[in-house]
Amino acid sequence: MNFKLTPSLLAISFSVLTLSACGSKDTVSPQSQVKPKNIIMVVADGMGPVYPSAFRYYHDNPNTPLVERTIFDKLLVGSASTYPASESGYISTSDASAAALASGVKKNNFFVTDSAASATALAAGIKTYNGAIGIDQQKKAHLTVLEWAKSIGKTTGIAVTSQIVHATPASYIAKNEKRGNYNAIADNYYDLKVDGKFKADVMLGGGTKYFIRDDRNLKDEFVAAGYQYIDQFSQLSTLDKNQPVLGLFADVALPAALDDEDKYRLKTLTQTAIKQLENDKGFFLLVEASQIDWGGHSNDIAYAMGEMDDLSATMEFLDDYVKQHPDTLVVLTADHNTGGLSIGSKNTYQWKPHFIQLLKKSPEKIASLLATNKITDQQITELLGFPITDDEVLQFNVIKLEQTLAASQQKQTPIEAEKALTKQYYKAIKNIIDLRTHSGWTTGGHTGIDVPVYAVGQGKEEFYGYQDNIEIADKLFKLMGRE
Ligand SMILES: [Zn+2]
Repeated sequence: MNFKLTPSLLAISFSVLTLSACGSKDTVSPQSQVKPKNIIMVVADGMGPVYPSAFRYYHDNPNTPLVERTIFDKLLVGSASTYPASESGYISTSDASAAALASGVKKNNFFVTDSAASATALAAGIKTYNGAIGIDQQKKAHLTVLEWAKSIGKTTGIAVTSQIVHATPASYIAKNEKRGNYNAIADNYYDLKVDGKFKADVMLGGGTKYFIRDDRNLKDEFVAAGYQYIDQFSQLSTLDKNQPVLGLFADVALPAALDDEDKYRLKTLTQTAIKQLENDKGFFLLVEASQIDWGGHSNDIAYAMGEMDDLSATMEFLDDYVKQHPDTLVVLTADHNTGGLSIGSKNTYQWKPHFIQLLKKSPEKIASLLATNKITDQQITELLGFPITDDEVLQFNVIKLEQTLAASQQKQTPIEAEKALTKQYYKAIKNIIDLRTHSGWTTGGHTGIDVPVYAVGQGKEEFYGYQDNIEIADKLFKLMGRE
């Protein structure tokens, strides 16, 4: 069809263009002029685009002809690149590009980020080096969206399944040269303030060992400053709504979803955090599904799908929450992709996630039960939810014999021997699962592929289309009135 561009058609096509370009900096779509009262930023650590695809098939009801759509399919709006600042990436002295750098080539970008650089990008809108928490390459601290929210009178919080001082939540609150300085980062949570106020009113996750230490007891300091402290999930329902809260439910991270009593622990924490934070001026909440990344690092498809299931339930809840509270914006993205997972491997044109749908414990947990003789070979089948072959049973026996020999040769302590045996069993179980499901992996680290972006609620159209990860922070700042 041929159109003549009359003025009215021009106006229509212009407004369409404006809408489709509303992610760029100099266009303001009409919807986004109304600022959301509440913002919930959800980071799914390590969740490259393959994880929500895999989850769709894992989650599929086999009794219906078509594959059911997931909450991720429903909320998808765009994608984001995740590359870190140009000095980042692994540079060895023998590396040709290190030589290129020395000879004056300025740009040396290996494109693959870690969680600290990408969380700093999402939180503060800056590119930085891998490992940096809230600071740039010159070690200068930058304002984060959580800090800005606090400075304009909103309540703020974090709800995560890792230790609360892990790279992603830390980047919204702390400033440190190295993500591994957990104690110093925990100190920051108490010591660094916005206009004399603590940065987060609600902190839920793991990490007791960084808050209750020999050299400093931050738990006591927070309690003395008026915080409620809890360490059991059962106490979540007993919280006083008018008091800030520190809730630490594990020494380091929470158990994997597959092993936790509450398989939807992220959803539970998110619901509690929101209840605590709700107020007239609105809130900013950071939610992190921290352990999808760990499933990816371990090349453990069952672990990763267990975490995706919890995230899916969390997003279903948040989608409903936005229906009840249309003045709320929820944005979900990943900081990077982990593991190079592939759906289908070795030219088989098949992926069979039904093998892991009946799993009763995480593969690592099954391995440790096996290593401590708490289960028999037959019970492995029960916990895995599918039968293992005689050859595979034999494999486990061989592993045990080899490890017993190694333990005596290397004079391992019983604890060391048990750990080593668990590790070998874990590897074998993952291998069995990958073979059954046809799952493939390319790395134990991160990859540089773009990640999906999801949004629902007030201002969601800001996130349509392609964007770089630092623009996500820019858009959140803008939606909270900071130009
Ligand atoms: Zn990672």
